[in-house]
Amino acid sequence: MEEIFSVVTKNENETMLMAEKLAHTVGKGVVFTLVGDLGAGKTHFVKGFVKGMGSNALVTSPTFTLLNVYEGGKVPIYHFDMYRLSSKEEAEELGFNEYFDLNSLDGVVLVEWPQQVDGLINCPHIEIKIEKLDGNNRKIIVGSQK
Ligand code: ADP
Ligand code: MG
Repeated sequence: MEEIFSVVTKNENETMLMAEKLAHTVGKGVVFTLVGDLGAGKTHFVKGFVKGMGSNALVTSPTFTLLNVYEGGKVPIYHFDMYRLSSKEEAEELGFNEYFDLNSLDGVVLVEWPQQVDGLINCPHIEIKIEKLDGNNRKIIVGSQK
């Protein structure tokens, strides 16, 4: 991962606003991974991002559904939570590899817990790493992965 920039946010609203602004520059064919501990703010990042893409969809954690799709914005948004999977093969059996072919991707993909499916996301993508600091502070590191 090559770091592009990082910011520190002081609360969930700042994280959502940062993601919202980032989304203004994003169109179809972009994949994001979201790395960080439980409660780091990955899902809150997605909430802001979806708003920034112009969708009013309600964002919830796809912990049990594995995939939520949000419509109504510039392009469809595919929100994965791989927490309950434990291999790339399991994800492939569910057909998830099709979302990581940038030539056919018709929307934007955001993946929580990509480490659970190591090797699945083999296309160039943006990694969002969220580190918990003191209190409600979070360091958000944006990087690129070829
Ligand atoms: P994750 O998806 O990484 O498990 P969530 O987004 O579901 O995390 O939850 C993050 C929790 O941390 C929420 O309760 C949120 O209110 C809280 N929080 C506190 N400070 C921040 C911050 N700076 N950015 C994002 N979330 C924060
Ligand atoms: Mg989450």
